Amino acid sequence: MPARRLFLALAPALTLAAFALVVFAQERTDYNLIHLIREEAGEHSQVMDHLWFLSERYGPRLTASPEFDEAAGWAMERMKSWGLANVHAESWGPFGRSWSLQHYAVELIEPRYSLLDAVPLAWSAPTGKAVTAEPVMAPFAATPNNQVKTEEDFEKYKREWHGKLRGKIVLYNRPRANADTAEEKSYFSRYTDAELASLAKTPDPTPKIDIRLEDVKIPEDPQDAQRYMASLPPDIREVLADRNREAGEKRDRFFVDEGAAAIFMEDNRSHDGMVFAEAAGTRKAADRLSVPKFRITEEHYNRIARLLEKNQPVKLRIDLDAAVGARDLNARNIVAEIPGGAKKDEIVAIGAHFDSWHGGTGATDNASGSAVMMEVMRVLSRLQVKMDRTVRIILWSGEEQGLLGSKAYVKEHFGVPGKPTAEHAKLAAYFNLDNGSGRIRGVYLQGNDAARPFFERALTGPFRDLGVTTISLRNTGGTDHLSFDDVGLPGFQFIQDPLDYSAVTHHSTMDTYDHVVQADLIEASIVIAGVVVQEADAPEMMPRKHQQ
Ligand SMILES: [Zn+2]
Repeated sequence: MPARRLFLALAPALTLAAFALVVFAQERTDYNLIHLIREEAGEHSQVMDHLWFLSERYGPRLTASPEFDEAAGWAMERMKSWGLANVHAESWGPFGRSWSLQHYAVELIEPRYSLLDAVPLAWSAPTGKAVTAEPVMAPFAATPNNQVKTEEDFEKYKREWHGKLRGKIVLYNRPRANADTAEEKSYFSRYTDAELASLAKTPDPTPKIDIRLEDVKIPEDPQDAQRYMASLPPDIREVLADRNREAGEKRDRFFVDEGAAAIFMEDNRSHDGMVFAEAAGTRKAADRLSVPKFRITEEHYNRIARLLEKNQPVKLRIDLDAAVGARDLNARNIVAEIPGGAKKDEIVAIGAHFDSWHGGTGATDNASGSAVMMEVMRVLSRLQVKMDRTVRIILWSGEEQGLLGSKAYVKEHFGVPGKPTAEHAKLAAYFNLDNGSGRIRGVYLQGNDAARPFFERALTGPFRDLGVTTISLRNTGGTDHLSFDDVGLPGFQFIQDPLDYSAVTHHSTMDTYDHVVQADLIEASIVIAGVVVQEADAPEMMPRKHQQ
């Protein structure tokens, strides 16, 4: 029996107080239902099976690729088989060309044969056939947060290298002086109690500055620059990010014009033979693709650099075959529902991005989140839970290219800031999962003080025994709940244990099934299913941030 009813039974004389409690008691947590969810999601879990299909069978899932479509088709069929309603894909775009990796190899030919650990960046131009070429060390480093300096430096770079790169493989980074030392190599971690306590503590506020775009002056010192950037209004940050991207695309065009054979890049996340890879440059059909760009693991990159340093002749062979679409395509988000009862036009949405990068199988980023959210829907439909509100799952595309799928969806359904649609009033809350396979330890309130009582009752209350203890007022970024937050809707991302997400799997060749922790995904499906049923039956929708 729920605790509050017990209290009422023991204190029948306190009539007035009892009346207040009865009204309040609608917000009680149905612990019988929590128990059933734990049983279904715990003892009959299918989450690793969803994960297996999404990663090993259908991964990776680059947005707008045939691989993405195949995986999406599978996910929709599976959700239909559970009896979910309104299973469909919603198209948005145009996104850009499709790019699908067919084959590649990067080899050292001289002075000795060696197969190099490398991955091509997505939307690189295919080489057509295997190309043997010499490397040239022509490093360039953009100055973070300082576009003016970056552009000036690149003008100098162009003058220095014009006419010297034809048919060459450009080594684009200065090699890093030291590879990671053995003592630093602890790649797997869970939050300690002290770390969680510090997350729960609200940091000192940074005042936002009111500024016009033309007055933005980013400080030279990198830390000052970071603080300054955080204080800028979001629309100004967006303009700066767009300019940054355009400047990068302009730099890419230089290498196309110069006829470079390829660009090799090392990057500071790389270690122990693993490689991290995102996009080479533009994916727009109207633009020329970037010359083939490869990320090379630091050990192999540094060997080439050291051979050149000692004036040894070096020959490399590259081969890249990718199926590249001729036209810009729309991308698709995947949607399914469990219809509600008394308040069926109000929506509790859950989601995760379904797209991935192409180096691994996108297992922790973000087949994990997608598999958990699908499992939540399976568990709730299997238990035939009757909920007041409709529960909707949305699996996003284009997240990796800038939250594009969720932004498009939010704009279409909920409008833009200051111009909400009718649907805007009907979205109770959005819950997101996208920080790897790590166990849920709490939630980020995204600055929404008014949401705290709900999460204390619905999240840390019933699931403290699973390690879910922490409610943080902080914002967390980088994923699709932001698209909701941007238009004044309550969107949340859970706090998750880091595991080896940032050091090993995030966007790397090692983003594979092996790095997913089964117990953590099961815990996440229990916790999210529990939170969702409570939001779907709450007397009021999630409070929204006070709008000024
Ligand atoms: Zn992700």
